[in-house]
Amino acid sequence: MTTPVISYSPLIAPHGVVEPELILQWLREEDPARLEELFAEADRVRRQTVGDAIFLRGLIEISSHCVRACGYCGLRAANTGLTRYRMSEEEILTCAHEAKELGYGTVVMQAGEDPELTGAFVAGLIRRIKQETGLAVTLSLGERTRAELEAWREAGANRYLIRFETSNEELFRRIHPTPAGIGRNRFEVLRDLRELGYEVGSGVMIGIPGQSYADLARDIELFRTLDLDMIGTGPWLEHPDTPLASFARLPEGEQVPSNEDMTYKVVALARLSCPLANIPATTALATINKANGRELGLQRGANILMPNVTPVKYRALYQIYPAKACVDETARQCQGCMSRRIRSIGREPGAGAGPSPNMTRRGVEDGSAG
Ligand code: SAH
Repeated sequence: MTTPVISYSPLIAPHGVVEPELILQWLREEDPARLEELFAEADRVRRQTVGDAIFLRGLIEISSHCVRACGYCGLRAANTGLTRYRMSEEEILTCAHEAKELGYGTVVMQAGEDPELTGAFVAGLIRRIKQETGLAVTLSLGERTRAELEAWREAGANRYLIRFETSNEELFRRIHPTPAGIGRNRFEVLRDLRELGYEVGSGVMIGIPGQSYADLARDIELFRTLDLDMIGTGPWLEHPDTPLASFARLPEGEQVPSNEDMTYKVVALARLSCPLANIPATTALATINKANGRELGLQRGANILMPNVTPVKYRALYQIYPAKACVDETARQCQGCMSRRIRSIGREPGAGAGPSPNMTRRGVEDGSAG
């Protein structure tokens, strides 16, 4: 069988092969005219590879309980200033039905690392959502065991999101302590997910204190070598009740800023590096530019939005960072807002589940597509 070959943009692969040095150069680029070129190219590639449809994923934040100590995240166990919640099966099902009524093709269930969300509970949930709504199911529940990932796949889960956060191992250890017996290596989780037939999503935070330009360029290279189906990235947002707020930054010129422009560069370079991936304009991006961050992300490489369908009474409690966009809106209001934003840039909401075209490509390559 002939292998479909991905051709890369000359902006990162002038001789047909991606040159990592060019990714680093683009991350450092400040000239507005050159950046417009990068953004226009990412938009062109996006149109060519994944088209104009914007797929909507209804996000349900099912539990804010967490046993971990991530230095960046407001849900960390040591943060005692937070009221914790865990949604019941019926509450989650109600949200899934609402997502379906609002026309979304997928629900994403995300949570802190919460052992009370047992393998059996989550498997039961997945089965009911599939039976009652037929929606695609994405999970984002942290570093779970292979046995759990396998059981959830068997129950019908389609996709899994777990960011590697940074490819700098030393930095990752600092921001993501993993005491013996807790958690798993995220790259092993990603490998398990691939073997189990999930659509695999990962990504990073942009501007973590201690993250260099070279680190971020390697992150983007890794998106490509991991052959990711989905890539979620967003600016690191300082949460005052977390250790990262006081972490040392690198010297000026080495430290990646956690700002909007850097986020667009990463979205655009992710699109050029992984032309067939599904790439969201994330809530973190919307949080730093509430007026039109999402639209700009969608015009610079992204093709996915993740409207929140979590019940309003829980939303403010899922505070991974402060001032999160959309915390006061109902699911229906979010849907109206997202539709307006999509139409304002001349695009259209996608119909159906919107699987990653990269997954479809891999299926063709190994002959298992069907
Ligand atoms: N417990 C799951 C889900 C975490 S929330 C997991 O760890 O995979 C999903 C993502 O939010 C994280 O992967 C992280 O990249 C992002 N995030 C967490 N805290 C953040 C912060 N302070 N600023 C920006 N993004 C953050």
